Order: sequence, then structure tokens, then C-alpha cells
Amino acid sequence: RVAYVNGVYQPHGQAVVHIEDRGFQFADGVYEVWSVFDGRLADYQGHLSRLARSLTELRIDIPMSAESLGIVLRETIRRNRVRNGIVYIQITRGTAPRDHAFPTDVAPSVIITAKSIDLRKGEALAARGAAGVTQPDMRWGRCDIKTVGLLPNALAKQAARERGAYEAILFDEMGMVTEGSSTNAWIIDENGKLRTRDTQANILRGITRAAILKLVEAEGIELEERAFSVEEAKRAREVFVTAASSFVMPIVSLDGTRIGDGKPGPVATRLREIYLEQARREAI
Ligand code: PLP
Repeated sequence: RVAYVNGVYQPHGQAVVHIEDRGFQFADGVYEVWSVFDGRLADYQGHLSRLARSLTELRIDIPMSAESLGIVLRETIRRNRVRNGIVYIQITRGTAPRDHAFPTDVAPSVIITAKSIDLRKGEALAARGAAGVTQPDMRWGRCDIKTVGLLPNALAKQAARERGAYEAILFDEMGMVTEGSSTNAWIIDENGKLRTRDTQANILRGITRAAILKLVEAEGIELEERAFSVEEAKRAREVFVTAASSFVMPIVSLDGTRIGDGKPGPVATRLREIYLEQARREAI
């Protein structure tokens, strides 16, 4: 495997950044993940725009043109011979003597990795349905920025894994679901309405979420962008999560409570199918 590190392609095993990189010391950086289908990037523009926005919000200089970025992302995919998988980019404020305040005259660090994924595993899980557990959302007030400060997310995911679950569904101090530890969360409520928390309320504006919203409209599914509680999720007809790497994943149990009939529901199944079809078709 090969990684792109600040303009140079290096063997993955030897690819390193400096000990005083601000990503390492302060989580002062952002990232993006694209799915790769047949060597092409899915939802390309959406993730690129969010990357630019995350950088702008943190006042990190955008280190290269969108065109150059596209070239190095594709070259990293090509050098790693990825047909299906993901490509990851991380941009930090750069390397500077440790001081909380921003350094002046520092160049951002850019790393890119790509890896192959066997899509059949995710398909098999989606066909069975995955387990979820709820965890308190312990994150900060700017979850709209896709920063590498993922410790609360990692702790929540680990708690889920230790309970044999796929995803941790996070809830706020009111018991309302915010999102998953690395996904956006949705339900079909008791009235058959599709619900997902609105993006004004301190969650990540998922690119998959946005793509699904468009499909939902085209399908004529009744939707409300309004938060739901953990209790509503447990009583829901369907629960599912969305992200670039898991697409649409049905959640068939939450804290051991069976959701619906314990099988992936028709809406999640349909949305997964049409999302994947569109993402493959529009990948560039
Ligand atoms: N929410 C969080 C906290 C995430 O980390 C992610 C993706 O990694 C998502 C939602 C889903 O976002 P996207 O659909 O853009 O991958």
C-alpha cells in the first residue's frame, strides 16, 4: 500500500508525519471519506464542498486547488489498486512548536490513504440487519465540522463493539437522538413517517444523508427533519443509519430491543438499493 504525505507517495508502512503536527497534538485538523466504486469516487462534489467548509470554519488554509486535490485522490486510489473501497484525506493546520494558539506561516499537512473493501460483507450485514446500542453524546458544540477530534466517537463505538453491536446511537441530555458515532440516524416512526434530526442541531451534515433526502423526495416518502427520542426509536417501525462507508444500514435491535419485526424494513431496504444504484452511476 501507498500513502500520499505532503506531496510525496510513500510506502504505507513508513508514511509518517512530524511529532509536532497539530493534528497529533491538538486534533487541529479535518478529514473526509469517499466511497470508491470501480475506482471512481462517490458523492465527489458533496464531500469536497464539506471539506472546504470544514477548513474554512477552522481557518486552515486550503492547501491546493480542487483540481489538484482530485488528481492526488485518484492517483492514491490508482496506486493502491482500489476498485471498491474508501479514500481518506486528512488536512491539519500543520507542524509547529507546541502552542495552543495558531502558529503563523505554517503549511497545512495533507495525507491521503486508500483501501480496498470487500463490499459483500456489508451487503450480508445489511441483509440481516445490524445491532445498535445507545450512548450519551459527549461531543463538543461544533459537530458540524468534520474534525479529527473523534475521541468521544471512538469511545462510543468501542462501547457498541463490546456489546456486539455495529453502531452507537448517540443521545443528548433530553434523551433525543443526535446521530450515530460515525453515521446519521433515521427512523420510520409509529405513524410511518421518516424522521431524522435537522442539521441545525449540532450534528454532521452527512453527505449520504443529503443524497438520501433527495431520493426520499423523488420516492414520495413522507419526511420530517425533526429529532426523535431513544424511546421513539425503540418503538419505531424501522431504524437505520447512513454514511459514506456503510451506505444505508438497517438497525434491527437497539439496546437489545427488537425494532419492528427484527428484520430490515422495506424503506431502509429500498433506500439502500436506490442510493447504491445512484452512487455507482454518478461516481466520478
Ligand atoms: N455523523 C458522523 C459523526 C460521522 O462521522 C459521519 C461520517 O463519518 C456521518 C455522520 C455520515 O456522514 P457522511 O454521509 O458524509 O459519510
